[in-house]
Amino acid sequence: MSRYMSSRFADLEAYVPGEQPQDMQYVKLNTNESPFPPAPAVTEAVKAEIDRLNLYPDPEGKVLRQKLAELYGVKTENIFLANGSDELLSFFFMTFCDRERGVAFPAVSYGFYPVYADLYGLDAQIIPLRENFRLAAEDYCGIGKNIVIANPNAPTGRTIPLSDIEKILRSNPDHVVMIDEAYIDFGGESCLPLLPKYDNLLICQTFSKFRSLAGGRLGFAIGSPGLIEDLDTIKYSTNSYNVNRLTMAAAVAAIDNNGYYVANSRTIQANRAYTVAELSKLGFETLPSMANFIFTHSPKVDGGTLYQELKARGVLVRHWDKPEITGWCRVTIGSREQMDIFLEKVREILEEAG
Ligand SMILES: *Cc1c(COP(=O)(O)O)cnc(C)c1O
Repeated sequence: MSRYMSSRFADLEAYVPGEQPQDMQYVKLNTNESPFPPAPAVTEAVKAEIDRLNLYPDPEGKVLRQKLAELYGVKTENIFLANGSDELLSFFFMTFCDRERGVAFPAVSYGFYPVYADLYGLDAQIIPLRENFRLAAEDYCGIGKNIVIANPNAPTGRTIPLSDIEKILRSNPDHVVMIDEAYIDFGGESCLPLLPKYDNLLICQTFSKFRSLAGGRLGFAIGSPGLIEDLDTIKYSTNSYNVNRLTMAAAVAAIDNNGYYVANSRTIQANRAYTVAELSKLGFETLPSMANFIFTHSPKVDGGTLYQELKARGVLVRHWDKPEITGWCRVTIGSREQMDIFLEKVREILEEAG
């Protein structure tokens, strides 16, 4: 930190993204990317757009918002676009969370929530999960704070039913409840049907996982027109051209080729079931997952060792040095070939551990 940095950030601990090593080819199962490339039509659409890069993108992103609105059966005024859902989360905190309204989220969840809370000077209410990392809806009912919940949760992969989300929405009518559905397209149930009934619901989604576009950086919100308008006010006060032309062209083509991604998701779900079953034969305990990753641990090797030993063998997974989850690793579900390499290395490591 230089002596010029604002003192209000002196204690800020920045988010640490998963490793993106450039030195060697790893079997990369650490940041929940899709193993599948974008649909061929996406590549074509991006190429065609390159010639227009001299022009600013449409700040309203009308074409893409219209596409998304059709896909989800809502109106364009229900859609907000962001440079990745990380930016959307930042806008959510900036727009709705202040000292008066506050913010609450689970203790074991997406690592960016506490970072944004700090960045925006909030004293977040951090709510522990229950047994087996279960989220209990009653812990959030009537708490009188804005709320962010990832469903499925990360890094656990566990889901909560719509009835739980509805209880939380109904009991906090004066606060915004953001449901982060980054992984909803891998078998979970979206809370979109609740939208007409609750104007305090904000759904956060991303093109990074299910739609194979992590490098394009596109996230979006679905919510009541009032919430979207508020987000727009902050967006136009921050960066009005937050989504670039190439990404918007890619996203429109991706939506036109939705079937490709649905088929890929089915493959991922099959590979997930296969990996869980194989790990179980090796004595691993894995939480039930509706995401493109699993959260797993072995009674024979601790999480940190497994992570290190896998990395030494060219396989990257994610491990956190946090007391509640230090025994565990999060493993992205990739192609069948990737999962077979992962499983082979796990067997090797277990044999050496004796
Ligand atoms: C990956 C992820 C995001 C961020 O996605 P981007 O759109 O790539 O910024 C947001 N929330 C959760 C829970 C995630 O796992």
